Amino acid sequence: MTVTHERAPTTVSALAAATAPEEFGHLDEQSKREIRCALLTAVAVPGYQVPFASREMPVARGWGSGGLQVTLAAIGPEDTVKVIDQGDDAGVNAANLRRLIVQSTGAAQTTDPREASIIQTRHRIPEDPLMPDQILVLQVPVPEPLRAVEKDMRELRRMHAEADYSAIWVSLYEDLVRNGVITQSTGYPVLVGGRYVMATTPIPRWDVPKLHQAEFLSLFGAGREKRVYAVPPHTDVEPLAFEDVAFQVEHTEGASCILCGAADAYLVEVPARASWICSDTDWCQRRRTESNGAPDD
Ligand SMILES: [Zn+2]
Repeated sequence: MTVTHERAPTTVSALAAATAPEEFGHLDEQSKREIRCALLTAVAVPGYQVPFASREMPVARGWGSGGLQVTLAAIGPEDTVKVIDQGDDAGVNAANLRRLIVQSTGAAQTTDPREASIIQTRHRIPEDPLMPDQILVLQVPVPEPLRAVEKDMRELRRMHAEADYSAIWVSLYEDLVRNGVITQSTGYPVLVGGRYVMATTPIPRWDVPKLHQAEFLSLFGAGREKRVYAVPPHTDVEPLAFEDVAFQVEHTEGASCILCGAADAYLVEVPARASWICSDTDWCQRRRTESNGAPDD
């Protein structure tokens, strides 16, 4: 898929100064202003969950309505958008969201993350390194990283306010003692900027290090739970790990993609064929094109 016009720079200051025509991008101006305001607060306080008045969207809550609102508040007519679901541009959810964004804004679309100024994603970060003028928008089902250890909202607020994260450390320790390894495979909790524990949405552990000292801005939107949060560029994002038990990403010895041969990408198992393929479909496709179909390059 090719880009139909030039990419405009998308930065934090552009977010703050963004002015779009009336009725642009499905949301009314007041809604967009409010969401941008919440996003700027989120950028100013990395990892902190900022409440916002989540709007009714033409997708069900739980199907990317939070990410969609963030994208529609941040996007301008000069932007180029890419939408993925589990690394796949052709997923039903991704295709529907992309159509809605493109039709309501006139923004260009692409599957190539190097050409996109805004990448909305469910559960993956592209394999290609993202650049300073790119925004990653993550769809978040559960924004509260401490939900598994505490249900009371007031107590959760206190724990974040006082940086009292002992309960989550205890739960990680219990997991380790019970199972010999930390079993949490997706949405691994991280400490952002040395201050707030943050949920990494259900991205795999493979993607978590990409958030640390990243070149790009990451915006997280949870529509159902009415929260946004952010990781600005060049922010420390450290997975919670014990000094003597290192954080590890997924790796299966000997596994490689049956389509492109990659062993250095996040792979998903194809049980029916007892094999593995890249989760990032565009990356995998480009590797095959560039190597002219040869599986080992
Ligand atoms: Zn591949």
